[in-house]
Amino acid sequence: MTTTGMFDVIVVGGGPSGATAADDLARKGRKVLLLDRAGRIKPCGGAIPPRLVKDFDIPDHMMVARIRAARMVSPANREVDMPIDGGFVGMVDREHFDEFLRARAAEHGAERRTGNFERIEQTADGNAEIHYTAPDGSAAVARAKLVVGADGARSQLAKQAVPGGDKMRCVFAYHEIVRSPRHGEGKFDSARCDVYYQGHLSPDFYGWVFPHGATTSVGSGSMQKGFSLRQSVGALRKAAGLAGQETIRREGAPIPLKPLKKWDNGRNVVLAGDAAGVVAPASGEGIYYAMIGGRFAADAAEAFLQTGNARALQLARKQFMKLHGRVFLILGIMQWFWYSSDKRRESFVKMCMDKDVQRLTWESYMNKELVRKSPLAHVKIFFKDLAHLVGLAEA
Ligand SMILES: Cc1cc2nc3c(=O)[nH]c(=O)nc-3n(C[C@H](O)[C@H](O)[C@H](O)COP(=O)(O)OP(=O)(O)OC[C@H]3O[C@@H](n4cnc5c(N)ncnc54)[C@H](O)[C@@H]3O)c2cc1C
Repeated sequence: MTTTGMFDVIVVGGGPSGATAADDLARKGRKVLLLDRAGRIKPCGGAIPPRLVKDFDIPDHMMVARIRAARMVSPANREVDMPIDGGFVGMVDREHFDEFLRARAAEHGAERRTGNFERIEQTADGNAEIHYTAPDGSAAVARAKLVVGADGARSQLAKQAVPGGDKMRCVFAYHEIVRSPRHGEGKFDSARCDVYYQGHLSPDFYGWVFPHGATTSVGSGSMQKGFSLRQSVGALRKAAGLAGQETIRREGAPIPLKPLKKWDNGRNVVLAGDAAGVVAPASGEGIYYAMIGGRFAADAAEAFLQTGNARALQLARKQFMKLHGRVFLILGIMQWFWYSSDKRRESFVKMCMDKDVQRLTWESYMNKELVRKSPLAHVKIFFKDLAHLVGLAEA
């Protein structure tokens, strides 16, 4: 066993949350180890909002497509187009995006190592020991004052170190990466995302077609055990006219459903991103929330390192929930209500024809803030929602 190095912080996991935490801490002058097991491209639709591009300084060349509209497809095949006024949804390929973020952290001074995290142990002097397996199969150990757990959904670090970390509930999502048809061929539009709200494609989530330039992600998700996502994506490819396109990869991964109640162990571990359970309900959007979670974990880590007070670690969750807790709650209610039957999905898609719904949806998505202006539009949407909830509105 090799023990190499004492660090201020070890970040376990080099996805968007871990790479962001490592980068922020390295920029603050901290001695950081970024440990990632590497070797697998994260299965992901790769859709990111402009707010992420701005907040995290993402260069233009990282975006392989800019989406200008979404098409919502209802159970009865009603198609509602929602153009994005003055904005876009960016598409990134996770293979290159994650590597860009890790390399940027290294440029700012984080040490990168490849290895599979195995277990955490506490030392008598209050530090943490991270045991991992190096690429040559040998066992290795590194020590730190603090550990950021950013090892994704089903995080081993959360399970081992944080009370309740073993109780994460997940949606399972699966997608196929296919070769994109030419723009305009059949139904395909290289600047439009298609979102299918149809019970046979997903009984509790949705199916998607996300163009990424040369390739396209076609996927679906569900919480229901036994529901065949492969069959669903096969049916979706047929419906979207993509059945005959070359398949480049088939892959799936869990998406957490709910933020964990605790993100730290009250001692020297704090979680971020999927490991903390922060993916937006209803949309499954996780990249922005992972990165902002990584940033808040870095802020909490810095406060802990400066004061030695482990209560500072609670700041990560507090800051996150203060900014996004309400949106998560609203999206959770939306998913529970609108995705529960084809009748409701039909009404949901119909509601998306409303220009105010479209504007508020895109503004909230792009800027990651609940839109506070246009109170009349909110009132109108509230009454529409209410009418559906009490069964007054027609599908
Ligand atoms: C099919 C699918 C489609 C999605 N589409 C979108 C989308 O379009 N837009 C969006 O915003 N979100 C999407 N998401 C969600 C998004 O991918 C995640 O929320 C996001 O990747 C979370 O980032 P993270 O850094 O917390 O975790 P991850 O991206 O999962 O990164 C975890 C990292 O930890 C490493 N790791 C794991 N275990 C270990 C270990 N034992 N030792 C060392 N390293 C380890 C992994 O190698 C990985 O690099 C999608 C998810 C799925 C599954």
